[in-house]
Amino acid sequence: MMGTILLVEDNEQNRYLATFLLERHGYSVISAADGCSAVELAAKLIPMGILLDIQLPGMDGYAVARALRDEPQLDAVPIVAVTSYAMPGDRERALAAGCNGYIEKPIEPENFASQIQSILSSSAASGSP
Ligand code: MN
Repeated sequence: MMGTILLVEDNEQNRYLATFLLERHGYSVISAADGCSAVELAAKLIPMGILLDIQLPGMDGYAVARALRDEPQLDAVPIVAVTSYAMPGDRERALAAGCNGYIEKPIEPENFASQIQSILSSSAASGSP
């Protein structure tokens, strides 16, 4: 058991794939399909990490990251932004919004869980944000 990850992703197929890969790697996964329920769930569960899709309906991922960073009890919880259509500056924007790391879609099934694990462990070790 490696702990619980909150997966914030509005696309059902992406949610299914990411959940499958993370669970196979030993994580428990709780998911939210929009920003409001993500912030609510995160504050309740205090997961060991949050995977945050940037392209969400309504509140986008940057706004969700800032809302998560407004919750003092989530200070030590790393946030990994996941984005498609990556544009120059997206990474900096994600970090400025309070994310600890950034990966691009499409996710690579072979590497996805270990990429996440590596960002989560380096964020935990440095005690950021
Ligand atoms: Mn999306």
